[in-house]
Amino acid sequence: MAILEEPIKEAKKLKNYINGEWVESKGETKDVVNPATGRIIAKVPISTSDDIKAAVQASQEAFPDWRRTTPLARSRCLFRLKELLEENFEEISRIQTQEHGKTIDESRGETRRGIENVEVACGIPTLMQGPYSENIATGIDEWIIPTPLGTLGSIGPFNFPFMLPLWSAPYAVASGNCVVIKPSSEVPLSQAKLAELAEEAGFPPGVWNVVHGGRTVVSGMLEHPDVKGIAFVGSTPTAKYVYKSCGGTGKRVIAQGGAKNFMVIMPDCNVERTVPVLMTSFFGNTGQRCLAGANLVIVGDDDKFYSNFVDAVFNLTSKMTIGYGLDESVQMGPIHDKEKKEKVLEYIESGIQQGAKIRLDGRENVKIAGDYPSTCFLGPTIFENVTPDMKIGSEEIFGPVMSVIRVKTLDEAIEMCNASNFGNGNAIFTSNGKSAREFQFRITSGNVGINVGIVAPVAFFPFSGMKDSFFGILHTQGQEAVRFFTESKVVIQRWL
Ligand code: NAD
Repeated sequence: MAILEEPIKEAKKLKNYINGEWVESKGETKDVVNPATGRIIAKVPISTSDDIKAAVQASQEAFPDWRRTTPLARSRCLFRLKELLEENFEEISRIQTQEHGKTIDESRGETRRGIENVEVACGIPTLMQGPYSENIATGIDEWIIPTPLGTLGSIGPFNFPFMLPLWSAPYAVASGNCVVIKPSSEVPLSQAKLAELAEEAGFPPGVWNVVHGGRTVVSGMLEHPDVKGIAFVGSTPTAKYVYKSCGGTGKRVIAQGGAKNFMVIMPDCNVERTVPVLMTSFFGNTGQRCLAGANLVIVGDDDKFYSNFVDAVFNLTSKMTIGYGLDESVQMGPIHDKEKKEKVLEYIESGIQQGAKIRLDGRENVKIAGDYPSTCFLGPTIFENVTPDMKIGSEEIFGPVMSVIRVKTLDEAIEMCNASNFGNGNAIFTSNGKSAREFQFRITSGNVGINVGIVAPVAFFPFSGMKDSFFGILHTQGQEAVRFFTESKVVIQRWL
């Protein structure tokens, strides 16, 4: 199949977007590599502490006027941004495939989910309304004014380069704050494009800033007294570090971490519908998704059901086409880089060493459509006879590996899910309402699926998480994001 035209044709050095200007960093640069073609597509600055200080200062200067701008006027900027995102939809999606490696359909899905957050934030005039109580005492009324905080930081991971900062940034600016986005330095290009569009949409200088880089930028945000809140998404160790660093500083924090998700299969599920859903859940985004299925837990002692089910999964999985995501026939892209692939290979090896049975070996079963020099490709792997104490049954692999676990009862399945350190997105597949009710009542994960394999809350619902998958109180997306980005001012008035 033909490869769609690549929007990024040459490797330019990226600039930070600070105070409405494109500013060169004095920091060193790092190559951004297309994981499918192996080609360098950009040079990203590893910005310095002076860069992040300049962005915070610019946002502090922009804040007083932006705060005075009416919510309707602020939402007009977001409406313009939404229109521009629609006009540039395909380009943004292709950039994501180039920088990350996911298939073009996955990128289009990501772009759509990102835009949905902008759409929801457009409703800020009503999202920001506070409650009012008349006559709390005779002749006295009381009301709440949700008040923006000032400068906020949004830090993203590599696996959803475009969408993840949009879980927080549109709500932050809509509610009258200024934002500094730090994209993952591994995938900075779609955020650079987004900043161009934010500029075109008419956000005043200093309201929307982007500073590329790594730890120095993150610690610069964490240590800066004028950064009032941080919305972080990434791995659990970094999430814990961000959360702890904010403790006692007065900064608000949302820190979303890693995951190990269980997909529980009841013998009464609709097999025909369930199997294709599982393919997307386990192998979509090459398994590099915080809501990816990781453990497939098959309930019951019916050997025939078990083997038929696993066979059906095997049959679809073993035929998957792997390749460059800009080829529309490709079903799974490469792993994002060699280091990450190496980590997945170590997990596969550990599964074999710890006694799991490898039913489909992704190291051998790699049908690549096309001829690419990249070494980041890996086929989907299925393990059977996995137990939750094995590394592959308990740790986040973040690659296309399915671990099949057998249990006798739903009770056992729920207890196994709840024993995990993670609590991001677990799901049950069943046609029995009682089983579904029992599962959703007892399960300790923030996002729960019933016959749904990727439990991704839509933009007007909070993106939740429990245990090692989430640190904080309020969540990104929708109304909760607006609450996170505002503090309540309570006014009491006596009408004399
Ligand atoms: P990561 O933790 O390595 O990086 C996330 C961000 O933190 C990046 O911007 C990175 O530059 C920065 N960073 C990394 N190490 C740092 C350090 N020591 N000090 C300061 N900053 C640091 O995560 P990743 O590998 O980019 O992303 C994958 C992880 O994100 C997976 O664990 C996945 O489950 C998780 N994730 C979670 C959610 C969720 O909603 N819970 C969503 C998407 C991804």
